[in-house]
Amino acid sequence: MRDICVFCKNVLDGSDEHIIPQSINGQLHSKELICSNCNNLFGVKVDPILKETLGVLLHVLKIGNSKNLVVKDEEGTPYLIDNTSGKLKQIKPQVTTIKRDDGKIQINVIGPDEISTYKAMATKAVRTVGMAALKGEFSTSKSQKINISLSADAEIKIDGKFLLALNKIIVEYYCYCNLNQEWIEPLISSIAKLQENFSNIQICNTSHNIRKPESTEISHLIVIRSDEVKKIIYAYIEIFTVICGYVILVENYEGEKVDFVYHQDAITKEILEMEIDVKIDNIEEQPAEFEHNINALFDRHEDRHIYEQVSLMCKDIKDELDIELERGAITEDEHEKKYVERATKMIAHMMVFVFPDAVEDFNLKELKEINYIHSLIKADKIEEFKFFYHQFIGHEFTFEGNESIYKMENFVFARHRPRNDVHMLKVYCCFVSEKDGSKEYWPATDVFKFTGVPFLPDYFVWL
Ligand SMILES: [Zn+2]
Repeated sequence: MRDICVFCKNVLDGSDEHIIPQSINGQLHSKELICSNCNNLFGVKVDPILKETLGVLLHVLKIGNSKNLVVKDEEGTPYLIDNTSGKLKQIKPQVTTIKRDDGKIQINVIGPDEISTYKAMATKAVRTVGMAALKGEFSTSKSQKINISLSADAEIKIDGKFLLALNKIIVEYYCYCNLNQEWIEPLISSIAKLQENFSNIQICNTSHNIRKPESTEISHLIVIRSDEVKKIIYAYIEIFTVICGYVILVENYEGEKVDFVYHQDAITKEILEMEIDVKIDNIEEQPAEFEHNINALFDRHEDRHIYEQVSLMCKDIKDELDIELERGAITEDEHEKKYVERATKMIAHMMVFVFPDAVEDFNLKELKEINYIHSLIKADKIEEFKFFYHQFIGHEFTFEGNESIYKMENFVFARHRPRNDVHMLKVYCCFVSEKDGSKEYWPATDVFKFTGVPFLPDYFVWL
């Protein structure tokens, strides 16, 4: 058991240190690492660096105080960056449809994982029964608060300060694992002196060639392992599965095998138990570009959200049918049929109205309708759009349940997730209250619909 502080060597005084800061949802902590003096110092000088640097991610993932700044409606969240290369590889699940004797269509999906199964089912559902959803009601049209600053460029800058923060995490975990502190003493002393000229950590895995995350994984990971061939002890770290770093801690190592892994979900904080394969032979030399990792993170974040929503709703349907079955109102056979039917309709509806980006192969006509529903236009249609709809600007509106008169001030274009590498914008109408100057943002097509402006599909194209 350690009784002196890793950094200043004073006697420990029960100070509880979070190895990965709480501000980024870190969960691992120990009272046997550092003293309260060091803890306070790092708390001011080092730990906030991560939160500051990764602010955009925290924003999107709704972690910490940034929660309140984010739009309520997931689908209305503007995506932040140009996405040219960030597509996750789609694993194509097998989908078959069977026309049954009773005239109904049954959809069978065999997928490698639940997400792609849902996605495949959704596509098929939209194709077979679900586009009827388009002819139905519009989904709820609430005024949405959007945060315009969100469409600023999401730049993550890795500098010496940031590397200091990463080094501190690695060193604390190394000591937490009770590895020999003397072997890394120079590194410990540089951290204690708050040096900001670190270059020891190699930022890597920008194309997932070192470690490929699971399809919905958003995690923090620290690995400390020895490598027999290279005769080293190295650390590999991932923060939000986006910032990945590799550093050799001990050289000329010929001792016992070292293998420590800390892996937690970065949102739920749950400890993850999956096998971690780090291919250190693939550490690349080229400078890091995070765009791929950030876009892939957003994809996984959305997949995760879709999965949660869809599985919750499927469970509701199943629960309802279970009750009916118990009461004897339906047979086992009807239970199964009804479940497929209702789940399929629900998924189709969700894909059309809530997650328009989840289905890949809508045809052009369908896309135009879906874009219209979601107020999405192709980025290079912006001038045409403004020209065609300019007569809206300056008009006065009132909102239900609100006495103030609002003047339509302008259109606001928020960056949306690209589709087939085509840049998309979500269009909002910005209204200003004559009473107190407050602003309301409404998706443009909701406004068009209420005011009876016809659907002009050419303004909502993808291609
Ligand atoms: Zn100390």
